[in-house]
Amino acid sequence: MAPHGDKSDAADETMVAKAEKRPISTILIVLAMQSEALPVVNKLNLSEDLQSVFPKGVPWVRYRGFYKDLNINLVWPGKDSSLGVDCVGTVPASLVTYASIQALQPDLIINAGTAGGFKAKGACIGDVYVASDVAFCDRRIPIPVFDLYGLGLRQALSTPNLQKELNLKVGKLSTGDSLHMSTQDEASMVANDAVVKDMEAAAVAYVADLLKVPSVFLKVVIDIKDGEETTAEESSQRFAALERAVTQVTDFINGKCLSDL
Ligand code: SAH
Repeated sequence: MAPHGDKSDAADETMVAKAEKRPISTILIVLAMQSEALPVVNKLNLSEDLQSVFPKGVPWVRYRGFYKDLNINLVWPGKDSSLGVDCVGTVPASLVTYASIQALQPDLIINAGTAGGFKAKGACIGDVYVASDVAFCDRRIPIPVFDLYGLGLRQALSTPNLQKELNLKVGKLSTGDSLHMSTQDEASMVANDAVVKDMEAAAVAYVADLLKVPSVFLKVVIDIKDGEETTAEESSQRFAALERAVTQVTDFINGKCLSDL
């Protein structure tokens, strides 16, 4: 989220303005799946935090380490304790983001991951997108104002230099708790001009906005949602593309202030 602060709270705004002018120091990378997380962990030489900052018994996992001048924390919500699959989706993403912000006080959140893309909007498999804004596509509350609450539209931190330097595509991102896309979800995404669709970003954005932490959303397109819908397929090549994108963004961020991004 953009570090906009509460307009009624001048102290908040001053803190944000100061944060924008000092080099970014602590980064929180939030990912949903182990197969997305491990290539990044290896590349940035992070190690698992065995003295967890999280409540006892939760499956959430944190890796940490110093990379160049950055204190990096990478978290993922772990595996479901009874089913053994990755805890994808909005609820685990929001919980682990909340707990991580509370414990680590990051300067910046990077929510990275794989996503579906809309070819009608120009997305192709392998593209790396940075989201301009994020919204939910599956929270339909057809009552005035609650409809907007359901949509949950939030702006990402503005990163024109990062986008230009790394030649990243920019577009709107929609989040829903289903991998499958219903016709209503599709209509919502079309209405919202979405280019990419994932299962976590709008939830991370909600928490980041609550706690006033700027955030960027970096998504690698691994399947196409319109036309013939393909299901997300595991591929080490795609996770390697995500790792490269996260590393490039981290390299770019190193030594810079929020306002340089
Ligand atoms: N590639 C995995 C899919 C797991 S569920 C597999 O085949 O096992 C989907 C996860 O990938 C979520 O974390 C979601 O954010 C992301 N994702 C990838 N493609 C997606 C798509 N087309 N729609 C929604 N989420 C997608």
